[in-house]
Amino acid sequence: MSCSSPLIDAFNRRISYLRLSVTDRCDLRCTYCMPEAMQFLPKKDVLSLEELHKLSLAFIARGITKIRLTGGEPLVRRDVVELITALGRKLGDGLEELTLTTNGTRLAEFADQIAAAGVKRINVSLDTLDSALFQQLSRRDRLGKVLQGIAAAKEAGLKVKINAVALKALNEEELPFLIEWAHAQGHDITLIEVMPLGEVEGERVEHYLPLTAVRDRLEAMWTLDESDFRTGGPSRYVTVRETGGRLGFITPLTNNFCAGCNRIRVTATGQLYACLGGSEMVDLRAPLRSDNPDALLDAALDEAMRIKPEKHHFRIEAGAGPAQPRHMSVTGG
Ligand code: SAM
Ligand code: SF4
Repeated sequence: MSCSSPLIDAFNRRISYLRLSVTDRCDLRCTYCMPEAMQFLPKKDVLSLEELHKLSLAFIARGITKIRLTGGEPLVRRDVVELITALGRKLGDGLEELTLTTNGTRLAEFADQIAAAGVKRINVSLDTLDSALFQQLSRRDRLGKVLQGIAAAKEAGLKVKINAVALKALNEEELPFLIEWAHAQGHDITLIEVMPLGEVEGERVEHYLPLTAVRDRLEAMWTLDESDFRTGGPSRYVTVRETGGRLGFITPLTNNFCAGCNRIRVTATGQLYACLGGSEMVDLRAPLRSDNPDALLDAALDEAMRIKPEKHHFRIEAGAGPAQPRHMSVTGG
């Protein structure tokens, strides 16, 4: 790349973290994430693995030090391990951390190769240990596969963090057990508030569970010691004294964390979204496919810094509709 100036937005935030969606497709249909009849992006519009690699190198040249591969489900993309391996070669050479977020269904197949590529930590999404509820939430019967995947990741030496969306009247009562289970397995766990992104069946507000309420309830059971631990994301951690494990809270609704935002997201079709909750977008695919990709990508990244908004404006209320028409699986959650 011709330019090596760091990415700093209009609010003086240094952007060092890229969440890159390698596909918007998925083998689950989590009810809070997408409708059963989700329309996926046309395959012809999706960037090739070589293009995703080239794009990642352009970001690293501009000071991105952490890349998280996500989706959709990153492990349903054929040959994604080739991309992980190629990016792993940049570790220690501009890139400080390479990681991924997965639903875990295919992790048993790939855990060894992911670890061999230099990945140290991964996030696995798991909202329940109850197979009937898992099937209800994800519309697929895959809990066994996910648990096998998590075990394989641990076996491969990967540090696993469990991510669970907190859902009123669904996994609400189970959350303490899920936390105990994760900690007993040696995994950190983070709870997430459901965000109003994309149309789904039903009213989101019915299952929105503020983490302030969850925390109050957990505090009645356990001692939660504040922790300085950070992973470069919005999660704020406590240590549960009784389990000895770490518990994170991601609170986009009840405690906005945008002031410390250090990230940008790129869809599988090469659209950079400057904010998960905003519509500010810069296309990177045309520059990438142009005759002058280096200069045009640099200019596009500068533009992204100019338009990145100060914060999101999520509201979850009956009849309010989604904050953005894009589903989390498209933007790269
Ligand atoms: N398929 C992978 C997975 O599930 O881990 C990666 C993509 S998924 C979109 C990333 C994370 O976003 C998951 O932890 C999922 O639970 C979460 N998620 C999806 N839709 C959400 C929503 N509307 N609000 C909050 N979290 C959401
Ligand atoms: Fe798929 Fe992840 Fe969305 Fe669930 S949350 S439907 S696993 S992309």
